[in-house]
Amino acid sequence: MKLLITGGAGFVGGHLSERLIGAGHSVHVIDDLSTGSMNNIAHLKDTPGFSYTIESVDNVPLMAELVDEADMIYHLAAAVGVQLIVDSPIRALGTNIRLTEIVLDLASKKGKPVLFTSTSEVYGKSQALPFTEDGDMTFGATDKGRWAYACSKAIDEFLALAYYHERGLPTVTFRLFNTVGPRQTGRYGMVIPRLVSQALSGRPLTVYGDGQQRRCFCHVADTVEALAGMAEAEEAYGRVFNVGSQEEISIYDLAERIIEHTNSDSEIVFVPYEEAYDRGFEDMERRIPDLTRIGEMLGWNTTRNLDQIITDVVAHNRKSSDVVTV
Ligand code: UDP
Repeated sequence: MKLLITGGAGFVGGHLSERLIGAGHSVHVIDDLSTGSMNNIAHLKDTPGFSYTIESVDNVPLMAELVDEADMIYHLAAAVGVQLIVDSPIRALGTNIRLTEIVLDLASKKGKPVLFTSTSEVYGKSQALPFTEDGDMTFGATDKGRWAYACSKAIDEFLALAYYHERGLPTVTFRLFNTVGPRQTGRYGMVIPRLVSQALSGRPLTVYGDGQQRRCFCHVADTVEALAGMAEAEEAYGRVFNVGSQEEISIYDLAERIIEHTNSDSEIVFVPYEEAYDRGFEDMERRIPDLTRIGEMLGWNTTRNLDQIITDVVAHNRKSSDVVTV
């Protein structure tokens, strides 16, 4: 198939491009490099079947052409990272909602299926663990910037479902839970690349709050396996799927684990949330995906554990000149 990936030069998009090319598809990436980077696709540049355009999805005439040429669209272009969302809410809201509308509108005119990545943020601070796709969303007040991100992605999900039901457009929504791996930058807040870069450079590891909040981290290679597997699953149309790991760890224990992996002399410091994020921040305590639905659809589950994730991130950061000091 000819696949168009919006946001294909992002961290997940780069890995997805590689996986889809490996499966024999051709891939065209559109990315404006706002949070993406050529580093994510540089190794694919000379690969037959791979091409890219550096431009924003809101160049509608160009997008119309790209959609026309594609058999299917992976829509990954979005503002990501809690830090970015809290710092630049206008950009985050605009990017997430406007770009999704553009993609869905063009795709529906041409009848091209759209596979769209949402986020586990849409569960908000729900405590109904593990989170099932039809469980309630629980958001905080609008003066807490974080919920702007959750709401914007929830609106994207509503749009994808609305285009499916009202216009008959095949859409699939993936809720990605804390995806990590080689080439992820810590610039937008993501905890593992940040702590690894701190440990490798001997700086203190910054644990926000009391460090007792827990997360499940999924290796990006597993994540893209789920996304790629869905390319030909027509039974998935009009549905939402969790994609993530169920191996839970507290952020304090994660910091300790990273120190062990890197043999670092760094200490762990606690940073109050008010210092870490300027204002209007609220964290969630726990977040675990229920994986029944994607398991039934694809037989998918994770194949790499947290130790393998840390090993891969550390190995990448040790050899990379592009590691941002955060
Ligand atoms: N976090 C931290 N130190 C950092 C960056 C993040 O303790 O340098 C915490 C953050 O507050 C959250 C968890 O690590 O509780 C995961 O953060 P991330 O931004 O990676 O993903 P989130 O789950 O918040 O979307």
